[in-house]
Amino acid sequence: MKLEQAFQIIDIMQGLGTQTCKLLGGEPSLYPHLTDVLAHLRTSGICSVMITNGLVYADKRIIQEHFAAGLDSLVISLKAGTPESYKRLTGAPVFGKVCAAVGNLADFKGGVTITITEEIKDEIVPAIRSIVYAGARFINLHFCSPTLVSGLPENHSMLEPNIAAETLLRAVECLDALPVTYNVQISIPFCLFPSSFIQTLIEKKCLTSGCIVNKKSGLIFGPQGEVGFCNHMMDYPFGKYGVNFSSAEELQTLYLSQDHFFQITNRAPSHKCLECPVRHLCCGGCPLQWTQFDPQAYVKGGDEFKGLSSALK
Ligand code: SF4
Ligand code: SF4
Repeated sequence: MKLEQAFQIIDIMQGLGTQTCKLLGGEPSLYPHLTDVLAHLRTSGICSVMITNGLVYADKRIIQEHFAAGLDSLVISLKAGTPESYKRLTGAPVFGKVCAAVGNLADFKGGVTITITEEIKDEIVPAIRSIVYAGARFINLHFCSPTLVSGLPENHSMLEPNIAAETLLRAVECLDALPVTYNVQISIPFCLFPSSFIQTLIEKKCLTSGCIVNKKSGLIFGPQGEVGFCNHMMDYPFGKYGVNFSSAEELQTLYLSQDHFFQITNRAPSHKCLECPVRHLCCGGCPLQWTQFDPQAYVKGGDEFKGLSSALK
């Protein structure tokens, strides 16, 4: 994206009252105008969070430079749990660099995020231990979702929801025994977990859930100025800067006119969700997962949560 357009889009974000801008890739640390963008976000009053593979931050001077330019938080995305798996997945022996970046981040705001995928499920515990020993102070766990590509959902790494739930339970057991704070983003049915597990996460304030599409709480901008509902649907942008909108007001009007799309994505995956006491938190999980899996096989219903209603409000 050209710098001029990045500034125009940041100005639109400011006009919409945006509080946080997440910079994703590709690899955003390689964007040539990054420090200018970080500075413009700072002067616009928008908090910047960058999600990175971490490689450039093995050099501590670059972390210092980016935070000095205006970065508010840096999140390193961990792809695998051992040097061997990292090399197999990324084609390069870079696990040591990622761990060095995690160590460098200890003096700054941010943490590590792990996507629970087919590739990492068997080594989730060694992955967590390695990065805590490398110096991680905060870890976020979240699930993988399919992506819509050329009209079809593609799923390369999303686990079956019950296996994903079992992997998360193991991961949280490991986190609880380590000197680290954590958050989990649950985008599969809550009813795949024991209700006591969900209640504990809520009480510890380390559970986030919900979908920016269902909540209408976020937008994604692509490199050509296109705007979409979610980064798993960028083959289907609903508009483009300079073509469909040029101001915050025009973008807001365009977004709110996408009723048909919201009617499709806001459907509950099962009738069992309609009376569920945690529906406001769970929403049935990511709507895209149901392009791969039959909800009837995984949505058990929310009866177990009925006794927990005061904790869940
Ligand atoms: S549809 Fe919602 S939950 Fe699924 S990937 Fe997109 S934003 Fe995330
Ligand atoms: S019944 Fe539906 S809303 Fe309730 S926990 Fe299960 S998937 Fe979520």
